[in-house]
Amino acid sequence: MSLPDQVLSALASTERPVCAYIYDTGVARDRVAAVRAALPPGATLYYAVKANGHPALVGAYADTADGLEVASGGELALALDAGARRIAFGGPAKTPAELSAAHEAARTTDLTLHVESALELRRLGALGPLPSSARVALRVNRAVAGPAGSHAMTGTPTPFGIDETQLASVASLAASLGVPVCGFHLHAVSNSLDAPAYAAFAADAVAWSRRTAAELGIDLRYVNVGGGFGISYDDPGRSFDLTALDWSALDLPDGVELAFEPGRFLAAPAGWYAAEVLDLKRTHGRWFAVLRGGTHHFRLPAAWGYSHPFTVVRVDDWPHPWERPEISGVEVDVVGELCTPRDVLARRTPIDRLRVGDLLVFGQTGAYGWDISHHEFLRHPHPDVIVL
Ligand SMILES: *Cc1c(COP(=O)(O)O)cnc(C)c1O
Repeated sequence: MSLPDQVLSALASTERPVCAYIYDTGVARDRVAAVRAALPPGATLYYAVKANGHPALVGAYADTADGLEVASGGELALALDAGARRIAFGGPAKTPAELSAAHEAARTTDLTLHVESALELRRLGALGPLPSSARVALRVNRAVAGPAGSHAMTGTPTPFGIDETQLASVASLAASLGVPVCGFHLHAVSNSLDAPAYAAFAADAVAWSRRTAAELGIDLRYVNVGGGFGISYDDPGRSFDLTALDWSALDLPDGVELAFEPGRFLAAPAGWYAAEVLDLKRTHGRWFAVLRGGTHHFRLPAAWGYSHPFTVVRVDDWPHPWERPEISGVEVDVVGELCTPRDVLARRTPIDRLRVGDLLVFGQTGAYGWDISHHEFLRHPHPDVIVL
């Protein structure tokens, strides 16, 4: 994979040994435009902040997307700081303090709360009436599964949302508490690679919402199908294909807003993780490239059990009096600086030529990279963060 010039030039001026995340806000903006163009006309596009909460990226998404989807008080504060035009607040474990913060935010920002349980409704109701501009949707774990992906959120036991069989009782509780419900939140999948199946899921989510709202006496205004547009890290050709989103089966009545809230698809291509090769060694017949960096900065390959592709950036400078270690034409395991055999970013990867002091650059690391990693394990310094 070739690297953009601006990434290469940022790396050239980074302190050695290089260990850095590079984020490109221009890519973030372009991604929003591409996704928006592929959605049904008039659809709402939120960015799911949990994919990458770096303020520069969050700012770029606040600017270009319709709003930000947040799932904690911390993300809510970030979204407010970023000046998000709209905020959707979800998550299965909102504390009373977080609900109050949302209540407060609803006075100044267009806010939609995705309520995940009967008890959460009671906690919300106890805070008094929400401003009339605020909206409440019920997050539902439907009886049927969503499209295939890396994680299923619905159609299976999970802590997310209200079981479809309990929806009628939760809807009547909302009515008795005076909490007006405007629709449903149906986030169902992470990392779907099948755009036609995703579009079919969204069309079905709308049809189900219409039927269910009619049954429950809800005046349907809002259907949020969540995120889940996927990236195929080890086989880029299989990533979610926006051009294959076919909305012909979608029957969306006037006055009903259809919302999407992808994270990974918007943020992954906006980030690169670069780490310098500190050592090359062979034990029991296997080659290891040891990096200044690792899974405490980029945990995804270890969490998901795949090898993340990388590009070798050659650094010719070698200011030392001793011989420079080098390998060529072999397979290498790319490991980090942590004292655990699980600190592996890529296994058995064929390499043309690699020297100590060269850089490995991992693309598609803007989503669920730094944000999901255990930064303090072993107390190595954090990577530099360079924002383009
Ligand atoms: C994580 C999450 C998203 C974003 O998911 P992606 O797979 O990154 O698109 C959207 N909505 C909810 C409720 C989530 O939990």
